[in-house]
Amino acid sequence: MENKIYDYVIIGTGIGGGTMVKLLAEKGKNIAIIEKGGDKHQDSNYLNKGLKLGLRTTTSIQLGGTSNLWHGVLSFLDPIDFKARSWIKKSGWPIQFEELVPFYRSISQLFGIKDFEYFFTENLPKELKDEIESIPFNREILDNKIFQQPLNVLNFKKIIQRLKSHKDISLFDNTTACRFEIENNKVKSLVIADSEGIKQIQGKKYILCAGTLENPRILLNSGIKNQNIGKYLMDHPMGNLCQVRFRKTQKAQLYSAKKYVPNIAIKSGLTFTTFLQEKEKLPNHCFYLRPSFSKGIDNKSERVKLSLLTFKDGKIKIKDILFVLRNINIALQILIYKLSYNATYKYADLFFVSEQTPNDKSFVKLSDTEVDEYGFPLAEVHWQVSEEDITSIEKCYHVLKEQGFSEEEYEFTHSFNDLDWANNFTSAAHHVGTCRMAENSTDGVVDKNLKSFDVDNLFICDGSVFPTGGNVNNGFTIAALAARLFDYLEIKK
Ligand SMILES: Cc1cc2nc3c(=O)[nH]c(=O)nc-3n(C[C@H](O)[C@H](O)[C@H](O)COP(=O)(O)OP(=O)(O)OC[C@H]3O[C@@H](n4cnc5c(N)ncnc54)[C@H](O)[C@@H]3O)c2cc1C
Repeated sequence: MENKIYDYVIIGTGIGGGTMVKLLAEKGKNIAIIEKGGDKHQDSNYLNKGLKLGLRTTTSIQLGGTSNLWHGVLSFLDPIDFKARSWIKKSGWPIQFEELVPFYRSISQLFGIKDFEYFFTENLPKELKDEIESIPFNREILDNKIFQQPLNVLNFKKIIQRLKSHKDISLFDNTTACRFEIENNKVKSLVIADSEGIKQIQGKKYILCAGTLENPRILLNSGIKNQNIGKYLMDHPMGNLCQVRFRKTQKAQLYSAKKYVPNIAIKSGLTFTTFLQEKEKLPNHCFYLRPSFSKGIDNKSERVKLSLLTFKDGKIKIKDILFVLRNINIALQILIYKLSYNATYKYADLFFVSEQTPNDKSFVKLSDTEVDEYGFPLAEVHWQVSEEDITSIEKCYHVLKEQGFSEEEYEFTHSFNDLDWANNFTSAAHHVGTCRMAENSTDGVVDKNLKSFDVDNLFICDGSVFPTGGNVNNGFTIAALAARLFDYLEIKK
């Protein structure tokens, strides 16, 4: 065991861990960073026993974690996501939207956001608002949802590499956190392993940020007895629900992606209003009107597009590139999304990024049979999507057709069954749940300050703490939670 006792031991350097390291280092804290990966991407070594994720790679083991793969698209959860909704079991966060807004605002600068207020549709400048309003739909049941994407995408690897020579920072990379040694409800040390063997490291406080799929393994291997560890694994099942043809050609670029300043793209999705969600008892799904240039959607080209989404894992396939080059519609769709190319369009694919509701059949557990190279049981991932979640998507189709898009303006090119949502959705690579925040230990693993209910000096800060996942990419919320945890540990203490 090392003699040194660090102020903080931080496990993992993805969006949760990376944000914590950055904030605590600026405060001059003494930090040990434990990171399983090194400078290059490695796949995670969990065993997938549930649904196929559909994306080639959804997590990255390396310095900076999955921020090496992400696209930096940011948006915040909606106020309704934090509320207990009578029609969604296990819904309700122990904090409310308003409590997180100051942290979304402060951390947005780290990502390069210039106009935080533009996340609220009502604050958009006139020219963008006009564009948003130029597409007709029933605004009593549908709201615009704004996303911003700084094009210089933040990668926490660069931040950690800059900080590692600092005298107060000790980086243990290529080092696996295996389990905590716990005595009298406190972590006494963290057991870590690298090519030289197993050792222990000590800190005053430990912040676990190894991600939704790995945290349960470390906690369960530590013998922590909390029935919620690993439970309610969620994602955003995503895919095309159908396609619409506009009766009049459209040009609103904001519904795909528009560079409103040289380095930031902005786009709008659509969500159902609170009124409609309450009335129809729907989760908070989000969907995009993705411009298309030909009638119909074929699931094969969708799979190729998704494979190209994960290109930063270095496994891009030549046959996918050739497929795109031969398919003008797909090539154009990628161009307008990636390069904010301004086109007129007649069709839009309704691409859903749906809210998955908490489901006790979807979980992460320890393998009974397989261990890692250091002898610790591996994680088994059982991602499952419930029948109710699938049915709710069918309901959306009918609500949109009957109430959202008037026949005078739109024609639906498909019936619900044409696209076979149940067999074609994929993961959005937004793994959340498994160490949920709650009011008490019967319902969760950490409290509203991300402190473990079971171990006094242990905190968890990454996607795993989400009690429900809303419908937006989770990076911004993970970073805001990290900023809030920093405030709790270092400012308000
Ligand atoms: C292709 C792609 C595109 C995406 N685009 C977006 C986007 O545009 N916007 C958005 O918000 N989200 C996006 N996401 C999702 C986003 O990247 C993740 O939700 C986010 O990175 C999760 O952060 P995290 O801190 O929970 O986990 P991670 O970033 O996965 O970090 C976990 C860290 O823990 C380390 N680790 C794991 N096990 C151990 C161990 N035993 N010991 C020590 N270290 C360990 C890992 O190496 C890693 O550094 C995308 C994801 C993918 C795959």
